[in-house]
Amino acid sequence: MNTLIKDITAILPDGDGFKTEKCDICITDDTITKIGKAEDFAADKIIDGKGRLASAGLVNAHTHSYMSVFRNSADDLMFHDWLFGRIMPMEDKLTPDDLYWGTKLACLEMIRTGTTAFLDMNICREDVTRAVSESGLKAVITRGLVGNGRNDEGGIRRIEDTLYDMEKYGGNKRLKFMMGPHAIYTTDREYLELVMEKAKEYNMGINIHLSESVKEIEDCYAQHGCSPVEYLDNMGMFDFHTVAAHCVQLSDKDIEILAERGVFVATNPISNAKLGNGFARIPDMLEKGVRLCIGTDSAASNNTLNMFSDMNFISLAHKGNTRTAQAVTAQQTLKMATETGAKALDLSDTGVLREGAKSDIMIMNMSCPSMQPLNNPIAAMCYSASGYEVESLMVDGELLMENYEIKNLDAEEIYFHCNETMKRIDG
Ligand SMILES: [Zn+2]
Repeated sequence: MNTLIKDITAILPDGDGFKTEKCDICITDDTITKIGKAEDFAADKIIDGKGRLASAGLVNAHTHSYMSVFRNSADDLMFHDWLFGRIMPMEDKLTPDDLYWGTKLACLEMIRTGTTAFLDMNICREDVTRAVSESGLKAVITRGLVGNGRNDEGGIRRIEDTLYDMEKYGGNKRLKFMMGPHAIYTTDREYLELVMEKAKEYNMGINIHLSESVKEIEDCYAQHGCSPVEYLDNMGMFDFHTVAAHCVQLSDKDIEILAERGVFVATNPISNAKLGNGFARIPDMLEKGVRLCIGTDSAASNNTLNMFSDMNFISLAHKGNTRTAQAVTAQQTLKMATETGAKALDLSDTGVLREGAKSDIMIMNMSCPSMQPLNNPIAAMCYSASGYEVESLMVDGELLMENYEIKNLDAEEIYFHCNETMKRIDG
């Protein structure tokens, strides 16, 4: 199948950053074969790119898709009250079906707002993975692993859930799996060592929440005499491909460790602000070369999975916070939200529009007021677009949304089930 996107303005890599260029994009099956003049490319399908903007699809490097059912139901609460007082009691009432529909709601919102790949942490066997696989999106699935000691039955079962999904859905080339130890405050050292042994045995990366709240730091010093980053580094976790979500409360030494060890930090700027956890040291991490990518976190603490909101917020929050207008630039933000995010998900063949890369592309309609006049499309992505300019979305050459029509998901059906879930568990 040959698809031609004709005469489009595209955001292309340029050294360390991006440039925009008018071009044709030739796609054969799942791969971008040419960016430039199409010449004699025999297209089966032509997408008119006039008045449109193409970018690599956005990568949401940290979320909990099933929690989209909790959107606007747990607000104005500090992190620990939010998690232990509100979220966990609701989670206990969720059925596998609820998780399935909540995940579909998340996929619907991500497709609608330009995300082509995401890193997910969930709480079940199969149902979330099944929903993601039906959406057509790319994802790294991690089963949240909570446990104490090597013989914790629940802890062992959660590891088995991960391996079960990997075995059952491993044939879907848009899905990958990592081990997902939840956090250092929901696991002990022995359990984390067991998780690392399994990650080594199955050649998997690791996805973990790290240094999110002040309480986590204080408890870690009290129990282990060091910071959470040092604690994990000492036990060898960073020998693995590691994605550490949050990393809000970091010392200078922590930042050095994360940079040196090549840890991917998935920052969640809106969630951290909303739960009263503060601002991560993004400008300092950028300066030290930490591999930064952006996650929305869940809709229970954001309250959207629209990456445009986080791109806007991360840039503005740090400019304001540091009184420096260059603190986080639009170019840096876009790189975090695309290229580095893809690397964090261990998807080296996407996250950027170049020949030979997978065809994971979002197409935005530039006739929206927020895109006019189109002086600088990269600035538009960060400062003026809201996400609803995204008109079509392609993953591996397949259009998951075309002219605002979403192909694999039925919105009304998803809304019905998610509303029923909330009526039942919180009615
Ligand atoms: Zn999280």
